Amino acid sequence: MKWALIGASTIARDYVMNAIRAQAGHEVHSVLSGSPARGAEYAKAEGIPHTAADLAAALSDPEVGAVYISTTNEKHHAQAMAAIGAGKHVLCEKPLAMTVGEAAEMVHAAQRAGIVFGTNHHLRCSGSHRAIRDLIADGRIGRVLSMRVFHAVHLPQHLQGWRINDASAGGGVIPDITVHDADVARFILGEDPVRVTAQMAASGMGEGVEDSAMSVWTMPSGAMVMAHESFTHPFAGSGLEVHGTEGSIFARGVMTQRPVGDVELVTREGREVVPFSDHDLYTQGLADFAAAIRGEGTPAATGWDGVKSLAVAHAVRAAAAQGRALNVDYGG
Ligand code: NDP
Repeated sequence: MKWALIGASTIARDYVMNAIRAQAGHEVHSVLSGSPARGAEYAKAEGIPHTAADLAAALSDPEVGAVYISTTNEKHHAQAMAAIGAGKHVLCEKPLAMTVGEAAEMVHAAQRAGIVFGTNHHLRCSGSHRAIRDLIADGRIGRVLSMRVFHAVHLPQHLQGWRINDASAGGGVIPDITVHDADVARFILGEDPVRVTAQMAASGMGEGVEDSAMSVWTMPSGAMVMAHESFTHPFAGSGLEVHGTEGSIFARGVMTQRPVGDVELVTREGREVVPFSDHDLYTQGLADFAAAIRGEGTPAATGWDGVKSLAVAHAVRAAAAQGRALNVDYGG
């Protein structure tokens, strides 16, 4: 399977290209940049054989079977719709689109076209998150009462462009990180948030967009989820906790792109370290996507998972802006 990269991005360069190349029979065939000169430079540096002059050229190449979209967020919808129209499988970055309606339109179109559509929510591909989900599913902590997600990080200098100053490109910590946390909660707890309260702030980095958010989500079971995302916290560390009637799970350093961190289960019997696989998150995501193309299963995070994580993020931002609790609108 030959892939076209739509977007000469950091995430493609640092993680996803390697993950594509790790799949037997998959290769990175071409890259599209808005700047031909940058595209050529990127292709040369990354050993990509072709550059595409524009989106139509990238998609009309009969050798290309799949595309990975990792442009800035406002471009995802149009690029995905064009790729779906051209019959290519699509792995799209989060947030899928600027609105829930647009995201749903992409997923409906993919279903009609019969192509595989995935959302690149990497955290649910990690050994740590899968181990935590399994503990809960096995009843090790009893009935889940609450979950806390700590995802306040310090955005490195080289990523401080559009994310901190361009609302029209989809900047802000809520579209950037709250979407991931929404996916993590949905994946680990196996249910969708129904109602949120939230506050957001610009605490030193955001210029016209929020760089910090705290929110509380109510789950259908009655469990409560507390989430904290930020771009401005150099030393906070990341993690998550899930508390149940029979035990608690403490996971530190697991809201990250690498297969690191530690997970501990505490019950009446005492504390135990929970082992987990240290496979690469993105390679696992691509393996699941490649299997879906072969007709085996679904992508790790489907299109609908991307629609739902975006719906939660939108509810968080709207609840913070309006200062009131809001139901999450998944768009029917
Ligand atoms: P980048 O800022 O690196 O890339 C986004 C776009 O910016 C590129 O498509 C490129 O445009 C342009 N660009 C990048 N570097 C330069 C440069 N040096 N000079 C000029 N233009 C540049 O963004 P990210 O890779 O951080 O994010 C891209 C997408 O991926 C976003 O949707 C983001 O939310 C998502 N993401 C997902 C992650 C995950 O783990 N799932 C992690 C990080 C990001 P062009 O293509 O036109 O050259």
